[in-house]
Amino acid sequence: MYFHIAYEEPVFRPPSEGRSLILQATIGCSQNQCRFCGMYKMKQFRLR
Ligand code: SF4
Repeated sequence: MYFHIAYEEPVFRPPSEGRSLILQATIGCSQNQCRFCGMYKMKQFRLR
């Protein structure tokens, strides 16, 4: 059985979870203020 999940990019996850299913319940980061992190600077946080 094959499921197609349309992810909203970008999606980040550690390599050790590379084969895991992601259920994308939120977009972006609700904190988004860590100075060392630029992962979601281009995204406004929201529930999906
Ligand atoms: S800004 Fe980056 S490091 Fe900070 S909580 Fe969000 S995703 Fe994590």
